[in-house]
Amino acid sequence: MTVLLGCIADDFTGGTDLAGMLVKAGMRTVQMIGVPQEPIGDDIDAVVIALKSRTTPAEDAIAESLAALRWLQKAGCRQFYFKYCSTFDSTAKGNIGPVGEALMQALGSKFTIACPAFPVNGRTIYKGHLFVGDILLSDSGMRHHPLTPMTDASLVRVLQAQIKGKVGLAEHSTVLKGAEAIRARFKALEAEGCNFAVVDALSNDDLMSIGAACADMPLVTAGSGIALGLPQNFRRAGLLAESQVADALPTTGGLRAVISGSCSVATQGQVAAMRVVHPAFNIDPFELARGSDVVAAALAWAASRIKDGPVLIYATAAPEAVKAVQAQLGTEKAGSLVEEALAAITKGLVALGVGQLIVAGGETAGAVVKALGVTGLRIGPEIDPGVPWTVGITEDTSQRPLALALKSGNFGTPDFFLKAWSKLAS
Ligand code: ADP
Repeated sequence: MTVLLGCIADDFTGGTDLAGMLVKAGMRTVQMIGVPQEPIGDDIDAVVIALKSRTTPAEDAIAESLAALRWLQKAGCRQFYFKYCSTFDSTAKGNIGPVGEALMQALGSKFTIACPAFPVNGRTIYKGHLFVGDILLSDSGMRHHPLTPMTDASLVRVLQAQIKGKVGLAEHSTVLKGAEAIRARFKALEAEGCNFAVVDALSNDDLMSIGAACADMPLVTAGSGIALGLPQNFRRAGLLAESQVADALPTTGGLRAVISGSCSVATQGQVAAMRVVHPAFNIDPFELARGSDVVAAALAWAASRIKDGPVLIYATAAPEAVKAVQAQLGTEKAGSLVEEALAAITKGLVALGVGQLIVAGGETAGAVVKALGVTGLRIGPEIDPGVPWTVGITEDTSQRPLALALKSGNFGTPDFFLKAWSKLAS
């Protein structure tokens, strides 16, 4: 196996974000859901292992991240990347600092960066302070986040409070001078006994320079922005092709379906737009609660239509309808009833010959992916920002390949369910 970059992301959508960046920068990338059991195939330049370790107890986050690291080491990765949120989402106890330190220790490395900057999304760092758009992180909505309230914009202070080692700063005046100057600053900080450098970054040019300065660092810790600058290092070292199509997916063929369990505003518009032109079947949570065999009914309905074009099966409903369901069944019960039904329907659709599938809703996608035994995703072309086509990786390699687009609630243009198919080779 020839994997160059091994990434550990502290949540699933963050992993997808990073994987998308790497593909755009020319690296063929797969995203694994949790630490894989098996090795993966060839022709992959980067692997992103997506964990759920952002807010778990620090010991658990460390143990999981180290397990991910071991797998990535076995896969032959030459450099490692710990990916966290561009708003540095963490609690007073971590987990960014403790996981970063544990990974460094395991790699025998003494120095790394901490750089959540993502200028195109308004996340910039100046004098070690993180800005969200025009305001400091601590003045942004993040100060009220239910799990990871961020009340201090000084990343040096925030990170220092999470680690045993020492944090320093590589200032923007140095970053502007380019990769050589940044590298020299890293050396000086390391000589002063620092283990982490928070690095200022205001633009994509800054990210490219910082990326170049990190070429020899065993571990990089960052948001997804720094991923822009790393592929170039592998190219300079002759390890990555100068220009390659990184988003090509195997052709899956097969019938087409959309499964929607998202009730977000964007999805409601997308469902409405698809219903006008394609057959659509509505899942009624009350029917599910009454014990009717809604799964069988949906599959019988689909069987007689799906050969003629894409079908839509949806539980998506307006806020009042959702509230009424939740009031009667309980929010969690309603959610799991619908998720289980949609997951079972998806399995049936795949048995009917579906090879291209869109799933709307984060939780819904989680349930569907689990039911299908999908353990990873080969990342393909982007449909809309943050939503690529992928091909599912399953442990059972005898299964026919399935193209999957997993769309979180508020992503995508109103015609998403109509236009997405044209991005797949048929
Ligand atoms: P999003 O990404 O838009 O948040 P999710 O799939 O993560 O979508 O969450 C939507 C939740 O709402 C799921 O648990 C789903 O099962 C549930 N749900 C979907 N349709 C209905 C409905 N009509 N009534 C109640 N709950 C619903």
